[in-house]
Amino acid sequence: MKVPDKLVSAILEARSFLIVIHINPDGDALGSALALSRVLKNMGREVTLLNNDPIPQVYRFLPGWENFIRTPPQTTPDVLILLDCGEIERTGFENLPGKLKLVVDHHLTKQNFGDIRWGLSDASSTGEMVYNLIRVLGAPMDKDTALCIYTAIVTDTGGFRYASTSPSSFRAAAELLEAGVNPWHVTENVYESISSERMALMGKALSAMKRNGEVAVISVTDSMYKETGTSAEDTENFANLARSIKGVEVAVFLRQIGSGSFKVSMRSKGRVNVAAIAEAMGGGGHHNAAGGIMKGRFDEVEKRVTTMVEDALGSHKP
Ligand code: 5GP
Ligand code: MN
Repeated sequence: MKVPDKLVSAILEARSFLIVIHINPDGDALGSALALSRVLKNMGREVTLLNNDPIPQVYRFLPGWENFIRTPPQTTPDVLILLDCGEIERTGFENLPGKLKLVVDHHLTKQNFGDIRWGLSDASSTGEMVYNLIRVLGAPMDKDTALCIYTAIVTDTGGFRYASTSPSSFRAAAELLEAGVNPWHVTENVYESISSERMALMGKALSAMKRNGEVAVISVTDSMYKETGTSAEDTENFANLARSIKGVEVAVFLRQIGSGSFKVSMRSKGRVNVAAIAEAMGGGGHHNAAGGIMKGRFDEVEKRVTTMVEDALGSHKP
């Protein structure tokens, strides 16, 4: 993986950084930001970490998670870095300060934000990109930095299972283990710490799931949160659960956000590019995992998104 020289020199020349990640931050965004921040601080730089949402409980084992602030700073840093997203809208802020604006991301969405953009849509994760960046910066890989990057790569590759997982992802992982990461520590925190409440929500959502040929729709409404004492962060990977059914080619997960609005998450087994469907609703993502927001009543949204997916699969019968 070639890290652009321009990006490296821009980082080496700067003294102060603002690192910003996307709303509803995931393991890749958080792990990448925490790792890069640690390294830059070790190099004597000033770093501010910014994110619009609370840090999900599940990632609060990552060293430094409590350093994120939630309001943009008043001062202008030498460099703003958007990590794991390529446009300001995804950060949930309107505009962000920075004398120079950099993007480090692996999403497909075509955007032109930033003075220097490093976008690798076939990279497994932003974590793997940050791993390579840290190597080129010549910074040492301490155990906590390695833990953050390993978590980023593991979560965004679905545990090294997705097609974007490459030999270089495994090479990076091998070096991260050599730097002291205990893989079980990450597994236990990320995948084996499901609360009973979340498990109950999963049960409800699975019981109500609808299967229509190659499409499965799983959904969570406000009343399900109330009945189980859960919230949006307890729904991570519900879309993947639905996709894991044999014969399902595309899974859709609808999560209510307030009244009359739904967060749409889509997962494809590969035949259909769900990023294209997501872009048609103003969202984005990757070939096999993408999302956006749709407004309307639940049954309307469900019908509209199902039709879009069936059209893409070539199975829609008007
Ligand atoms: P998830 O379905 O887990 O929320 O997201 C899957 C993928 O789609 C992620 O790579 C995420 O960045 C992208 N994605 C999800 N929602 C949105 C959205 O509203 N806008 C954009 N641009 N990308 C999204
Ligand atoms: Mn990512």
